[in-house]
Amino acid sequence: MPKARQRELDLSEFPAGTITEYTTLVCLACIFDIFTKQLNLAPRTAFSEIKRHTPTIAELTSRGAMRPYFDSEEKHPHCPYCGKAKRWLARFDTYCIEGGKTTDAARRALQKKLPKAEDQFVVSEKKSDSGAVFFDWLDTLGRSLDLNDETWLIDASRVYLERREPKTNWDEVFDELRAVRRSSRLSEGWERDGARLFLAPSLYSEALLIQYLVSRSHAHGGLTLEGRLTLMDLTRRLRYSGYLEQLGISERDPGEVFEKLVNHLAATHEWSRVRTGSGSDRVEVAKRSSKKSSKSRKKKAAPPEPEVITTEPVKLHYLIDRRDFLEKVKSVYASYAG
Ligand SMILES: [Zn+2]
Repeated sequence: MPKARQRELDLSEFPAGTITEYTTLVCLACIFDIFTKQLNLAPRTAFSEIKRHTPTIAELTSRGAMRPYFDSEEKHPHCPYCGKAKRWLARFDTYCIEGGKTTDAARRALQKKLPKAEDQFVVSEKKSDSGAVFFDWLDTLGRSLDLNDETWLIDASRVYLERREPKTNWDEVFDELRAVRRSSRLSEGWERDGARLFLAPSLYSEALLIQYLVSRSHAHGGLTLEGRLTLMDLTRRLRYSGYLEQLGISERDPGEVFEKLVNHLAATHEWSRVRTGSGSDRVEVAKRSSKKSSKSRKKKAAPPEPEVITTEPVKLHYLIDRRDFLEKVKSVYASYAG
């Protein structure tokens, strides 16, 4: 029987950050108990029903799983509800793929290659939007980092850059890297110099913003490459670096500035399509007119900027790997019947 490791899907064709993986364990003793005692099915019927069972997307991806599902980081997990171990526990692996130009071809090719028999894989779709995708991405990023270990700042910069420029080989760029700095030379892009990576001000500003967003619930203010920053400090730095002006953000109130910054990042899920530091046509209008003084801009009113959060629709494709589940159900049933 192939080991779980050898069965992992090849996801190398997908840009970094476009797939979120979830693993949920299910206790077959508990699920059997539910089908026979709560739903009053005969054991044989219960097993054939269970074999067809696929949890909902919410059950597969939520952080607080409910019986018979559970999450465990342990190497030898036990069911938290009935204490059963390995033989009774099956695993569902769920891959959430962001639909879009950068992933559609790779996703179709992957789906074609998957085994079809017995619903070993189930595909499910959900409509979402770039705002929800952004906050999920932040949440996943935050959970994957150890905020007590300072190297997380470099890791967070990397994850941000991977999303911004999916075609770059960031393994190479971050190999043996010691520091990420703001470049005073570059107007766009980045360059590696020895063990340091220099980012153009707009890239650096967004990296700070992501770090702030990830860590602000962890610390008073947020932790960034520039140290611990309050919202006031952060907006001041982004103003000084020219980033706010680039985005056409003229508000003074840190709360309002922050809202606009977050809206900017949430406006599209494919950051690689956005030119660094300019979010949309709307922003381009603001940028051009900002060459004049801010007063004349207000009067000369380029089309008024809508205050609503603009997001774009995103289709999420969930790929549910049921192979381990099917195998375990069969072996448990065999031991029952035998
Ligand atoms: Zn159990």
